[in-house]
Amino acid sequence: IGRHGALEPIGFEYQGLRFDQDSFHIFAGLCAVDTRENAETIFKALSEHGVVTARMGAYKPRTSPYDFQGHGKECLPWLFELAGKYGIRVIAMEVLAPHHIEEIWEALEKTGHPTGVMLQIGTRNAQNFELLRAVGSQTEFPILYKRGMGLSLEESLNACEYIASEGNRRIIFCLRGVRTHLGDPHRNLTDFGHVPVIKRLTRLPVCVDPSHPIGSRVEAPDGIKDIYHVAAQGVIAGTNMVLVEFHPHPETALCDGPQALYLEELPWFLEHMRLAREAY
Ligand code: PEP
Ligand code: MN
Repeated sequence: IGRHGALEPIGFEYQGLRFDQDSFHIFAGLCAVDTRENAETIFKALSEHGVVTARMGAYKPRTSPYDFQGHGKECLPWLFELAGKYGIRVIAMEVLAPHHIEEIWEALEKTGHPTGVMLQIGTRNAQNFELLRAVGSQTEFPILYKRGMGLSLEESLNACEYIASEGNRRIIFCLRGVRTHLGDPHRNLTDFGHVPVIKRLTRLPVCVDPSHPIGSRVEAPDGIKDIYHVAAQGVIAGTNMVLVEFHPHPETALCDGPQALYLEELPWFLEHMRLAREAY
């Protein structure tokens, strides 16, 4: 994945969409799939705005084992069917173990592949080498690799090499904030200044996730949520993808409710991103 001499950037087509260092996509949606109704409401809103990509977590890596762990494979058949109904072409979905890849594949087979899936490697699994090898050795799905929140950049880039060295080079590198010892009013420190760094060091498309490093719907004195501000910073820096959490009723969300943007804000968020992209 590294930039060696004059090698062309790594880009790929998936589900009729182009992903490379020039493309731009917004993957908005639920942190965790909870109800069928909420998933459908999100897909419907996205399709009404011409958005064909979404995020939906079925397998959730929770800090506490007593918290909601996601519906797992149980929700996949109806989730994929709904995605197909609203013309959603790619869903970003985290996998925590190699057998989840199989479960996603089987559910897609059963539903007749109405949508595609981008397998997400979460920050907590950023150095789970067996999982990295597993997503690297299958050729069906592209990978959204999230930077390890406590790893050096070099370590995260090497983790991507674990994926690529198995054969799958359809990787997108996602910045999602890093842990520091400095104390931070946000959950993590945003590292979106590294968008051009990743582009320079690798040939991969880059994604930013403004939801997880901020961790809440806190607003700046200008009345604009910090999530909007950092998302725009990522876009202005040249990111190729934004992964962001929305919920129709954040108060009832089973995971990451405090940071979920209200679904009614979707048009405004999309417009904010459009203007930022124009500024880039
Ligand atoms: C997520 O995107 O749902 C998630 C858990 O993110 P991260 O791995 O970046 O914490
Ligand atoms: Mn989340």
